[in-house]
Amino acid sequence: MGRILAALLGAAVVAGPAAGQTSAVPPPLSRVPADQVPLPPPRPDEAKGPAATDPAVKEPSGKEANPKETGKDAAKDAAKESPAAPAAEPAPLPPERPADLPSGPAPTPATVVPDDTACLRRLERLGVKAEPVAPLADGLCGAAKPLRVTALPDGVALAPAATLTCVAAEALSRWSTEVQVIAERTLGKAAQTFKIGGSYECRGQNHDPSAKLSEHAYANGVDVMGFTFEGRAPVAVGATREGTPEAAFEAAIRARACGFFRTVLGPGSDAAHANHLHLDERERQAGHRLCQ
Ligand SMILES: [Zn+2]
Repeated sequence: MGRILAALLGAAVVAGPAAGQTSAVPPPLSRVPADQVPLPPPRPDEAKGPAATDPAVKEPSGKEANPKETGKDAAKDAAKESPAAPAAEPAPLPPERPADLPSGPAPTPATVVPDDTACLRRLERLGVKAEPVAPLADGLCGAAKPLRVTALPDGVALAPAATLTCVAAEALSRWSTEVQVIAERTLGKAAQTFKIGGSYECRGQNHDPSAKLSEHAYANGVDVMGFTFEGRAPVAVGATREGTPEAAFEAAIRARACGFFRTVLGPGSDAAHANHLHLDERERQAGHRLCQ
């Protein structure tokens, strides 16, 4: 029986291509749009293009299956398989991913532990004063490896200290070195202190409980209210008068922040940011930044 079945199956397989020539799948597929769509000329051309190049395309990807086949056999197989292959390959992938998501507990910022080894080393090289503090976990808010940052490069103090992820602390530190250059150029003095309005805080954006969680909720954002200088009046963000060195300083450091943070908001962005620069490292699709 097995032999007969095998023989029958073999016959069926052999008959497949012969029958396929009359009821070949690709031609009907390529003809359907030609009959239905008012733009038939370009579509058949496109449909024929891939079919003609299928053997070439197939060789690199399908070699393991047909290493010894001749060009003609490969062309036949390509004609048979090309309609099914594209549909079969992507199909299994999507179902697997959704299945994984609900199976385990949803990761929270407190459970996603970043490898900060290199980042911490860079902070040390920069001369940043920061020490690890206990993991933060408050519902969906939190951070697995927060730092308490008390001073930036060149001894610039944070007042008060900020609780930040290493990534955010490094961005703040690197930006601060640019702030110092701009301060010396526009104001003639380097800053002594960065006034911090807030860092880690479990809240929605703009303090709106119904809004998406702010990056502050992940210790990934910081609000800079202003700067103090030795022998010079402090500069408050949003309080500088147009045409003054202070305004030039504020505009320049804000523009520079866009090179270090993925989000930069401040006076003019909206009412909630009228008196400070909000800087965070929110990750967005395709690396998009929000720089206002
Ligand atoms: Zn903020």
